[in-house]
Amino acid sequence: MLKLNGVSVKYGSYTAIQKVNIEVNEGEIVVLLGSNGAGKSTTFRTISGLNKPFEGEIHFEKTSIKGRSPDRIVQSGIVQCAEGRKLFSEMTVHENLRMGAYVHRRKKDEIKQSLATVYDLFPILKDKRNNSAGSLSGGQQQMLAIGRALMSKPRLMLLDEPSVGLAPLIVEQMFDVIQQINKDGTTILLAEQNANAALRIATKGYVFENGSIVLEGTSDELFANDEVRKAYIGA
Ligand code: ATP
Repeated sequence: MLKLNGVSVKYGSYTAIQKVNIEVNEGEIVVLLGSNGAGKSTTFRTISGLNKPFEGEIHFEKTSIKGRSPDRIVQSGIVQCAEGRKLFSEMTVHENLRMGAYVHRRKKDEIKQSLATVYDLFPILKDKRNNSAGSLSGGQQQMLAIGRALMSKPRLMLLDEPSVGLAPLIVEQMFDVIQQINKDGTTILLAEQNANAALRIATKGYVFENGSIVLEGTSDELFANDEVRKAYIGA
């Protein structure tokens, strides 16, 4: 479904990611592991069209998307749910969700249906539909960010650190929801520092270090890997 082939990106003269190869098949949950600054966000920004690679290729459903504008990439079926949430905090929950359907210029009926799907998935958002996004708790804001991303009916969702800053119980709920979204038909590429939780739901993963992928394997392989355990699981 998504294929990055030898993708490298620079910020000025600094190479942030180097010759990155990633393959995501339809229906999978794939996780990118790595510490702060290892290159996960840059990889996401590059897939989303916000950064331009100076070498390499990016294909989505066998078509090159390298050089496409971010809004056209959303229209192609890829949506990024950003770290830090980037919600419209003065707007209500409902208005934020409607904004998620905007780039796609979707029909009224389709928007209604997506809203129903999001409210089914996150009942708390339905209860708080008229509250401002800024008044929500951290976990609820993260749910709203995911809900807003779902409003564009993506085929591939990029989730950057959905568990960051959340209490353990909320993290658990978050990963359950991600799994549910995947079961409902959305392929997922996930960046996480919480390797333990992420590898439990992922099919496979890639480990980033200093802008390069140093290890890849199935979730079971990564889970059993001593270096991964030492660096990201702590057991
Ligand atoms: P994090 O979880 O902190 O976002 P990450 O693995 O996603 O980490 P990136 O944000 O992709 O890492 O950063 C990769 C490298 O590129 C880091 O060394 C970072 O300092 C650098 N970098 C990121 N954004 C910029 C920028 N706009 N200008 C210059 N350097 C940047």
